[in-house]
Amino acid sequence: MTSLNVVMVAAECVPFAKVGGLADVIGALPAALEKLGVAVSIAIPRHRVINLEKFGFEPYPAPGNARVPVGFESIPYDVHRGKLPNSSVDVFLLGNDRFFDRPGIYVDPATAKDYPDQADRWIFFQRAVMEFLKSGSPSPDILHCHDHQTGLIPAYLDRIYRTGYAYTQTRSIFTIHNMGYQGLFPRDVMTRSGFNDAEFYPASPFEFYGMVNFMKLGITYADLITTVSPTYAREIQGSDEFGYGLQGVLRNRSDRLIGILNGIDDEVWNPAKDPLIPATYTASNLSGKLENKRALLKKFGIDPSHLDWPLVAMISRIDVQKGFDLVVSILDYLLAKDLYFVLLGSGNKETEGYLRTVIERHPGKAGIRFEFDNGSAHLTEAGADIFLMPSKYEPCGLNQMYSLRYGTVPVVRRTGGLADTVQEFDPSTGTGTGFVFTAYQPEQLKMAVDRALALWPDKTAWRVVMLNGMRQELS
Ligand code: ADP
Repeated sequence: MTSLNVVMVAAECVPFAKVGGLADVIGALPAALEKLGVAVSIAIPRHRVINLEKFGFEPYPAPGNARVPVGFESIPYDVHRGKLPNSSVDVFLLGNDRFFDRPGIYVDPATAKDYPDQADRWIFFQRAVMEFLKSGSPSPDILHCHDHQTGLIPAYLDRIYRTGYAYTQTRSIFTIHNMGYQGLFPRDVMTRSGFNDAEFYPASPFEFYGMVNFMKLGITYADLITTVSPTYAREIQGSDEFGYGLQGVLRNRSDRLIGILNGIDDEVWNPAKDPLIPATYTASNLSGKLENKRALLKKFGIDPSHLDWPLVAMISRIDVQKGFDLVVSILDYLLAKDLYFVLLGSGNKETEGYLRTVIERHPGKAGIRFEFDNGSAHLTEAGADIFLMPSKYEPCGLNQMYSLRYGTVPVVRRTGGLADTVQEFDPSTGTGTGFVFTAYQPEQLKMAVDRALALWPDKTAWRVVMLNGMRQELS
């Protein structure tokens, strides 16, 4: 029997190029599927940040004249092929320096804004994927598209490319990782992407409040839609707060929409064999955790003289989605207590400023690193005792799962994947893996953290909540 042939298409993939959790999933899911007997490959843009030499990427012949139309231009693309580490999954990088030889993946770091030619960049990439795979043998059974940067592909498949010999058996899956980013562009994108402007009219799949919406196209044309947790699948159909205007479009396709919880890569995020932390540890021997705590405090410039204090941590994009307004409003309150606080993250400059101001008021107890650094992320998961994730919304969230895996007890808001992965600890039964609050209010976050801090001195109970999390199935 020939195996199912799946091509994953996305903007980012670990370990080559990463902005957020999407990259973790694209780096982990294909290898997991391959173990189940699926033939998987990956297509992402050849971003500047990708180190071709380090990962052994080689030029790979593109079929035909290797050009794609964007508006009235015909633009060449090149292909490199490499492997996803620890697997035989092929990774194809589709490139053109005009669009992807840039310092940021989505945003220009110089302006902190989207690149002005954002639509053309993603049109180019998606058409290059369609052209590149068109004559491939075998042609893919499934094009698995992730987020709005690949939302045109289901429409391309259905409306333009399923002709003659190409893509006759191919089906599409569109996975929503975050409804907050939909890819909204002006009307001229109709012709720039190769569709007919006459199809742009109110309530057509192409129109969304006067704009073209790539995510709407993905949702409308995909054969199957998935999102990254069961709770988020319900939330995004339920209200504008989570659906960001597409809740009706999603409800229309509810028979084709399912929520499947993301899994974590157990090879990469595993305290028993993590090469990025000073001391490995397991559920049955936790002793290494204290050494990581000491190293983490030092890394953040904090004197580790009170190792008995709980160390509360955050790793996050600094964005309204992640609940930073709640954190800013309770931080002084928290830091008046006997605890340490560290934050690893970068993003909104104004919020960074507020956070810095609060933290500077508590020297010796709190530290902050406004950077994106994978090694520090691993050390933070391993060295902290409590992990804060009070998100306004959270499609799945990976950091709370890494925290569970590393015995770092999560305090989360009951939304999306956080609701599906963390259960409130009940001291009377010894069940539960963390501390959970519901209403998006500073008081509620404060109370949840206080419940965690109240349990901390009870070392036996604390060990139970840690172990419950470490033993949870998260693959
Ligand atoms: P999102 O994708 O919304 O940003 P997730 O929790 O799903 O949130 O995934 C975030 C991923 O990015 C995790 O792997 C996390 O460790 C990583 N990450 C976030 N901020 C940083 C940072 N400043 N440095 C290193 N890794 C980070």
